[in-house]
Amino acid sequence: MVKAVIAIHGGAGAITRSAMSAEKEQQYRQALTDIVTHGQTMLAQGASAMDAVTEAVRLLEECPLFNAGKGAVFTHQGTHELDACVMDGRTLDVGAVAGVSRIRNPVLAARAVLENSSHVLFIGAGAEAFAASHHIEQVEPDFFSTPARWEQLQRALSSDEMLLDHDGAAQHQDDDPLDPDRKFGTVGAVALDANGNLAAATSTGGMTNKQVGRVGDSPLAGAGCYADNESVAVSCTGTGEVFIRTLAAYDIAAQMRYDGRSLQQASVNVIHDKVLELGGSGGLIAIDRAGNVALPFNSEGMYRGFARVGEPAEVAIYRES
Ligand code: ASP
Repeated sequence: MVKAVIAIHGGAGAITRSAMSAEKEQQYRQALTDIVTHGQTMLAQGASAMDAVTEAVRLLEECPLFNAGKGAVFTHQGTHELDACVMDGRTLDVGAVAGVSRIRNPVLAARAVLENSSHVLFIGAGAEAFAASHHIEQVEPDFFSTPARWEQLQRALSSDEMLLDHDGAAQHQDDDPLDPDRKFGTVGAVALDANGNLAAATSTGGMTNKQVGRVGDSPLAGAGCYADNESVAVSCTGTGEVFIRTLAAYDIAAQMRYDGRSLQQASVNVIHDKVLELGGSGGLIAIDRAGNVALPFNSEGMYRGFARVGEPAEVAIYRES
């Protein structure tokens, strides 16, 4: 029997250690530890990989430290547009929503699409209507707003950039260990359950100062989210356009299946070669069908953690070396 395991991420980006307080770092570590341990407990109690990743991402969405659900970034026009995706490696079923602004937990709407629709991806008002018809909680759009994200938009507007410009000098007010102007706050989870099933979930507010209607990789199966029991479960964070162009998540599965590469080889190739070559920044979490875990990123840090059933959870923010 395989040993069940879950991995989570809370986005990747640049580190400004000078802006970091020990207290804030501790908050991030605690949130990551609590959420990954919760997923581990679910798996130990026999939960499916799909249930474990959905709940882990729901908890990450609820945590305002991360750019998904509450605490989501603002568009150029000062609104919020959220995207999410879940994929079941057992059946290759996918559910996703994009450009929603009234669904408290987009991952639950994505799950409802997977379970209740023959469609894969709903957008905007149609996604919200579908979610409402399945009793998914709705909120007013300003539910997602936080003062820190508003500040972030004002800085982006004054520099006229879509923030994720890794060359921009950030002047930020809070003490987030990852520079909030230069980090990707998408959240995600991947898991392997005791029955050998893989699942992945990804949820995001997107990128600060993005144009209304812009959709990144997060809700797109194969780009920002992918799971196939034959190979691997993957959730990405980073420059969405590049993760779409490289089909980053699926490329890992393809390299493993068709080229016989190990999880480590395939995920390092995608993040450090393919994504980087197109000017993309970010990282991903992945678990293969044997339970191997890879957490590569080409940015300076990535909020991440994983926990095998029966073993202590491990969480990290910065590069190990
Ligand atoms: N990948 C996300 C997007 O492009 C951003 C992120 O990872 O924070 O929408």
